[in-house]
Amino acid sequence: MPDADRHDRELDAWVLAAIARLDREGLVLGLGARELPLPGVAEQAALDERVVAVVTDRLATRGLVRLVAHADPARVTLTAPGRREAAAQPAPSEAPTPDGARFVFLRPGAPLSSTSADPDEQVCDFHPRRRRKGTMDPGEHCDGSGWIVDAVTRESRPCRCRPLRIQRHRDRRLGGRITTEILNFGLASSLHPELHPALTPIVRRWTDDVDAQLDAGAGLWMTVADWDRRVRSGGVDALDDVEAPPRTQAEFEAAAARAGAALDADALTDQRQRETASRAGGELSLMEVRKVAETAAGSSAAAIARAAHHAGRGVALYSLSSLYRSLVHLSRRGGYRDRLEALRTADLLVLVGLDQRVLERAAQWQRDWLSEQLELIAIGRYEHQKSTVIVSTGWPLEALAAALSQETYHRLCCAAGEPLLGSRIPTPA
Ligand SMILES: [Zn+2]
Repeated sequence: MPDADRHDRELDAWVLAAIARLDREGLVLGLGARELPLPGVAEQAALDERVVAVVTDRLATRGLVRLVAHADPARVTLTAPGRREAAAQPAPSEAPTPDGARFVFLRPGAPLSSTSADPDEQVCDFHPRRRRKGTMDPGEHCDGSGWIVDAVTRESRPCRCRPLRIQRHRDRRLGGRITTEILNFGLASSLHPELHPALTPIVRRWTDDVDAQLDAGAGLWMTVADWDRRVRSGGVDALDDVEAPPRTQAEFEAAAARAGAALDADALTDQRQRETASRAGGELSLMEVRKVAETAAGSSAAAIARAAHHAGRGVALYSLSSLYRSLVHLSRRGGYRDRLEALRTADLLVLVGLDQRVLERAAQWQRDWLSEQLELIAIGRYEHQKSTVIVSTGWPLEALAAALSQETYHRLCCAAGEPLLGSRIPTPA
């Protein structure tokens, strides 16, 4: 590489090391084809995804990685020479800072690139291009701005697509998307026999008229006992410790700088793509949704989320681990404040998997940090009189309160009400 200078060399070595590390992890996990999605590489390298795209192109030219054609998101694989190169050269100890002058998109006010722009936001929902085949006159539509300007009076009025735009924006801020899986499980397995009989009418009240509950700012906290067969059979998850929230002043500054770098024009689109790929948006995987739906209380919570979703309300469903994962990610990359505010004020927050055992096994600093987040969210929801539904695992309540800490437990009670036993008490044999 004759004409590469120090800046490029350092970035190349750093990104190659990140790819090699992910590749090794894939080997340990026994994953077959180790095609690494670029957003994951960017996360591992703690760099802007677009910087990583430029660097991987360079690495591909050098034969150290291979780009997987037509993959979305883009993927790379490590080649044999790449593996040798990564092993031979020690990676820099910390991430090199990309030179903003070389990456036009890192400069503030970069023009919105048409390739990464969000098509949802650029074209009106009622534009003929989006029209389903067979429908008649699509009617009036805007130029993608959400507003229609009257040719005669020069006055603008909102387009029919504007409520849809506002809803999409709201859901993006909030994360914890109600996926098709949640909708299906909420429908399929609500109110099964393991639910404590006293809860059946309460859950029905929520699912039958969710608007009334949300308008009243009602709360519901169901806790599952350890005799519940579903709890007994399942393993205990651990909190993700790939990334830690910033704790020292230096870490906060680095996180703020990274967040600042993402403030250019297409940051939102970029962030969304990264979130979808990295699950930092707080979306539950299919496996996580299945786990939620295994207990009667969990599937009841999914049914409530489903009802709110169909009622067009702002609703998010997070598990304790997905909430942790998402907030840690955002606190390091930017977007934390906005997400926190959305979590504090959304119509409905469904928080599941608040597992006493997970809390007990987490490191002290993880618990402290998580407690702080839960309290901030709970206080906000209480103050704004917004509905909160919680599903926890832990009984008796004293043990659950101790695992959460008394203060956090108290705050959550203010938002969602005192926990109710969600499991049917077993009849003596
Ligand atoms: Zn429109």
